[in-house]
Amino acid sequence: MPRKLVLASGNPGKLREFQQLLGSRWQLLSQAALGVVPVAETGATFRENALLKARHASVATGLPALADDSGIEVDALNGAPGVWSARYAGPGASDAANNAKLLAELAGVPATRRTARYRCCLVFVRDAGDESPLIAEGIWEGRVAADCEGSGGFGYDPLFIDLQSGKRVASMDPQEKNRRSHRQAALQRLLALLADTD
Ligand code: IMP
Repeated sequence: MPRKLVLASGNPGKLREFQQLLGSRWQLLSQAALGVVPVAETGATFRENALLKARHASVATGLPALADDSGIEVDALNGAPGVWSARYAGPGASDAANNAKLLAELAGVPATRRTARYRCCLVFVRDAGDESPLIAEGIWEGRVAADCEGSGGFGYDPLFIDLQSGKRVASMDPQEKNRRSHRQAALQRLLALLADTD
């Protein structure tokens, strides 16, 4: 019998991706389907936000919980937008508005100084009182282009150039993105931690 696990996100794409990677030992349920109202992301780091979200989902459902938090850190902007990535151009901002703001903030910064990374933090709590949650991080190094290109992916992908291949992430097919991504790296680490705890 698979064990039930609540995902602290209402995003159906994430639910599908995480369920595939977790395999048949876990039955992943979306917190939205269980009527959980999302908690405010008030943390100063991806780790704090992922912990907040996982604990909240576990308290509300009585189930073990998985949460992720991610974003882009730009070196020339001292790590901004970071935890503000989704809301960079304001609350509820569109991807296009966030990308436009990032381009404006980096105006005049040469290619060599436009280094950046995607970072993802994943947290697994066994129950609401879990004092030693499993925490795994993944990063994807790249740089911010001078204009948008490509129609795949989401968020900052039209601006993000993979450091290793030199490819624009929005021009990669989904499989290629998944193989390289910060989420995938974090999830592989988390799966190893989960296997160790059984
Ligand atoms: P979330 O909280 O993990 O859903 O993501 C926060 C924000 O970070 C997103 O709204 C995007 O702006 C950005 N982000 C996270 N992962 C990616 C990615 O793989 N590509 C592009 N943008 C991303």
